[in-house]
Formats: sequence, C-alpha cells, structure tokens
Amino acid sequence: MINLDKQTKFENYFNKTEDALSQMRILIVEDDADSVMILQAMLGKKAREIIVGVDGIDGLQKFRETKPDMVITDIDMPGLDGLQLSFEIRQHDSQIPIIISTAHSNEEFLLKAINIGINDYIVKPFHKNELLMVVSRFARIVYQNREIEHQRTLIQLMLDKNPTYIIISDGIFPLYMNHSFLNFLNLESYEQFRSMHETLDSIFVPISHGIDSLPFTFSEWFNARKDDYDEEHYLQLKIHCGPEEKTTTFLLHFFPIPNEDRYILFFTDVTYLIAEKDHYRSLSTTDPLTGITNRKLYEQELSMEIVKHERYGNPLTMIIFDIDHFKLVNDTYGHSAGDSVLIELTRLVREHIRKTDIFARFGGEEFIVLTPDCDLDCARKLAEKIRETVEEHTFSIVKTITCSFGIATLRKGESKQAMFERADAAVYLAKTNGRNRVEVENA
Ligand code: GH3
Ligand code: MG
Ligand code: MG
Repeated sequence: MINLDKQTKFENYFNKTEDALSQMRILIVEDDADSVMILQAMLGKKAREIIVGVDGIDGLQKFRETKPDMVITDIDMPGLDGLQLSFEIRQHDSQIPIIISTAHSNEEFLLKAINIGINDYIVKPFHKNELLMVVSRFARIVYQNREIEHQRTLIQLMLDKNPTYIIISDGIFPLYMNHSFLNFLNLESYEQFRSMHETLDSIFVPISHGIDSLPFTFSEWFNARKDDYDEEHYLQLKIHCGPEEKTTTFLLHFFPIPNEDRYILFFTDVTYLIAEKDHYRSLSTTDPLTGITNRKLYEQELSMEIVKHERYGNPLTMIIFDIDHFKLVNDTYGHSAGDSVLIELTRLVREHIRKTDIFARFGGEEFIVLTPDCDLDCARKLAEKIRETVEEHTFSIVKTITCSFGIATLRKGESKQAMFERADAAVYLAKTNGRNRVEVENA
C-alpha cells in the first residue's frame, strides 16, 4: 500500500476528479439553443465530448447511438419530455447518471423524478460551479465503477484462464470454481455443477494419504490440514463427475481469505509429472532387456534386507545362478537369440519365486535371487525347483539350456560382500562339478 500524506491525498483526489471528468462523454438534451450554448461553454473544455439532443425524441436516439457516460436533460420539451426520456433511458441502463436541469424545484416533482431513477438536478439558470460540482461527482462515480469493473474483469480473466484449478470453498461447499476446473470436469458452468453436486465430497474422493489408512472424505482431509496453509500438499483424488471417473494427483496449495471462513484452493494437476518421475525411476532401477531389478537397485535392496535381518534375526539367503555355456549359445545362434534366452529365462524364474523375493540381473548371464525369511535348506529347494524348470523348458530357438547355482546365507555380523563371495564360490563349484547343479556354500 502506498502511504500518501494528506496534501498528496487531496491533490490525488482532485486530479482524479479532473481526470474522470476529462474522460466523460456527456449527452445534453435541451430544446433551448441558448441553454445548450451555456452548457457547452461550461463543460465543453472539461469533458471529453458533448453530444447534443435537440429534444426528447432526438435525445433518446442519441443515447442509443452514442452510449454516453452521463445524461443532462431539460424537463419541458415537446414530444418526449425530460421525465419520460429519463424513464426510457432507465429501462435500458440502470447505472448511467441522469441529471435533470429544471426551473421547478417543488417537492412533488422531485419525488417523481427520484422514483424514475434520476440521480440529481441542477437549477436553471445554470451556475458554473454548481454544475461542475454535480457533474464531477458523477464523473468520479462513473470512473470508479469503470475501474472496479476493469479490475473485476482482469481478476476474472486471471482466474478463469489460469491453468491451475481454483476453487473458493469453506472446505465443504464450493462457492466458486474457475473455468479451467469446470473444463476439467466437462462442465459448462458453476450452475451446472451445483445442479449435479452439492459438496466437494461428491466429486473428490481421496485415495492416498500417507500413513493412516482409515477411510476419509475430502472435507475431513481438508479440515485436518486447513491450518497448514504454508505447506505443499500432494493428494491423489478420484474424480467423480459425469460418466467418467478419473484419478488425478494434485499439488494442492490453499490459504484462508482474511476475515472470512473461506479458503482459496489451488489444484495443480501433477499426474503427468509423477508418472514421468516414476518412469525415470523405474528406468534407472530395472534392467532394460529383461525388465527385472538391475544391479543398482539390487544393492540398495540387499542393504535394506540386511538391516531387517540384523533387527529381526530372520534368515537371509542368496542364490546366484549362471547360464551354462552361454557363449556357445551366442556363437551358434547369434546374439539376439541369446537375448531371447535371457528374456525367456527371467520370465520362467519369476513364476517360481515369491513376491518378497528379490530377483535381479547381476551381470551378463548371471542372476541373483535374494530370499528373505529363507534358510539354506529352503533356498536349496527353491534353486533345485528353478534348475529343473529351466532344464525341462523348451526355449524358442535354442531349445535347451541349463544353469549352475550357488547358495550362501548371511552370517551374523558379516558384510554383504562376504556372503556374495561364498555364493559365487559355490557357483564355481557347480560349474567344476559338471554344471546344471545346485551347490551350497561350505559350512
Ligand atoms: P560357463 O558355463 O562357464 O558360464 O560358460 P559361459 O559361456 O556361459 O561363460 P562366459 O563367461 O565365457 O560367457 C558368457 C557369455 O554371455 C559371453 C557374453 O557375450 C554373453 N552375454 C553376456 N551378456 C549378454 C547379453 O546381454 N546378451 C547376450 N546375447 N549375450 C550376453
Ligand atoms: Mg555362463
Ligand atoms: Mg558368467
């Protein structure tokens, strides 16, 4: 807010009044040529334009054609008199200031004028200062109304054209929603919304909200958080509107409207961004050929499993397996046939492991299955089952392949590297003992 001292405030007011008058287009309706001349002389230099109607009928026509900002009309005129003219004008425009110039100033007449909607009167013969005072007062009102209207249009435009969905609400009932939001809901207008829905709860159903998993409504969610308006809120909502139902993730900002029990809520649709983020995260953690966990994510998950193992003491066992003579597959059938073996093999293995097992491609044709809650014996059974399945499976080009397996379990206090080395040594043993075998680490 600009802080103005009294003097500047006054000057500002005065200048604004002058400014306001200089922008007015004033319609003077007067059948007496002398009166027209006098009014023109008094106002002509101050106003933007003076339009003259020579009687009531002409005045009404000029009003329609020129759309002036203000009307000053005589009362006694042939055809259509000043009161009739004012009545006609008021039918079309409830705002435009109408000032009558009159020699009458009896009460009954003025009452009638007020009932028609005339704003003020000036008494004939005209006094320049009196006239300027009255006209300036209305010029200022017109000017201010125009400024308010202009700002209102601007705010409306900013709200409606904003790609963010904007709602004004007490948390339950929507009191305003911008065009972008109506568009998103495939609705034409706010009224249409109100004819279909009462509260925000009937369109918004939250579907993820962090740790607590009790069922809740949007208004409950909002009520619990309405004081945290400095924060960013991510909220996934199921949107019920029309036959379609869409799930959208929003970044939600809101703040209270001062001195009101209402809030402005800004919903930014981040569904696409979150999906993209997930996509890139999955690209960086999965093996592009087989779609299973890559080595990077495997290392993270192994560390997490070790923390769990240390806390709860459950066994954690590792199976490493390696395709036998895979180089020969490539050499005989080509590299892309080799690739298809890798894809088919992972699909096969996936069918035999549990959801909680971690299955990763560790290197070229070397894989790891990490089995939490599984000891050496349980892992050996799993490895044996996988070995048999692979041996019995008919691969599309290569027909048969086999794998060699090595198993080790995490020992108290040891590093993940130590476990890996023992499992790797067991794979080596399986290879030297003739391949297509499962070997368990040396106890
Ligand atoms: P062993 O039974 O001793 O494991 O013999 P091997 O031939 O399987 O072992 P070696 O390490 O000699 O060869 C592995 C081969 O795996 C060589 C390499 O070209 C191939 N390989 C590694 N990654 C890929 C891949 O992504 N696609 C294909 N087609 N071949 C791969
Ligand atoms: Mg191999
Ligand atoms: Mg190898």
